[in-house]
Amino acid sequence: MPSQKPLIIIAGPCSIESEKQFLTIAKAVKKVGATHIRGGAFKPRTDPTAFQGHGHDVLHLLDKAKQLTKLPVVTELLDTEDIIEVAHHTDIIQIGTRNMHNTALLKKIAQRAPTKPILLKRGFAATKKELMGAIGYLHHHGHKGQIYVCERGIRTFADGEYSRYTLDVNFIAACKKDPNFKYPIIVDPSHPAGKAELVEALAYAGIAAGADGLIIEVSMSPFIEVAQSDKDQQITPQMLKRIMNNAEKIRRVVNYKS
Ligand code: PEP
Ligand code: MN
Repeated sequence: MPSQKPLIIIAGPCSIESEKQFLTIAKAVKKVGATHIRGGAFKPRTDPTAFQGHGHDVLHLLDKAKQLTKLPVVTELLDTEDIIEVAHHTDIIQIGTRNMHNTALLKKIAQRAPTKPILLKRGFAATKKELMGAIGYLHHHGHKGQIYVCERGIRTFADGEYSRYTLDVNFIAACKKDPNFKYPIIVDPSHPAGKAELVEALAYAGIAAGADGLIIEVSMSPFIEVAQSDKDQQITPQMLKRIMNNAEKIRRVVNYKS
């Protein structure tokens, strides 16, 4: 039987850059059918001089986006000091790929926000065992909320040549076939793609491998042209709409038991 559960679609800009930008995009992705809104306040950038996100100053905009759209919101947490505050403003805490191995952060989230749902992004060089270990840290320290696992691409020899990371669809299929793996898998096609034109194909590949949802970076004019992080990989709401429609069809056709 095809799975009856609709796909989880988390969409929004890479970073929350202004009230106008975030609320305009939030409204637009809601209109095309997204189920959750994403937006980063704290950004884990490679270059310390790059835009780091507006941090505490924009957390209240997550509340505004939620009020406006009536959709749950997702944002990344970087620092143990911000756990209570971030948990207060978000429905799901995102743990980024760089922090999957940060056991001190995982432990403190479990202790301070034990019921808060978590989107745990797989480390870009993490094995399945290491991912399960990170989940184990959360459980061991008392986390009881929903955990979503996110495949967002791993580092391979293809790095940078035609992709930013390599989307590991094999990992998605293997997790879904593992009877002991009981977590929904969300695919992030944006960060492995690195370019808007590749996002659609990677989204379909992830859903065809059995994923339960997508987290996609979405922006629109006039914000997309001046985005301060991940400018090239953000797609438009119209493109998101097409991806969602086709992804639902693919999910019905592949017909995995989950
Ligand atoms: C993001 O979602 O914007 C992000 C930084 O993700 P990742 O941790 O997968 O790089
Ligand atoms: Mn990003």
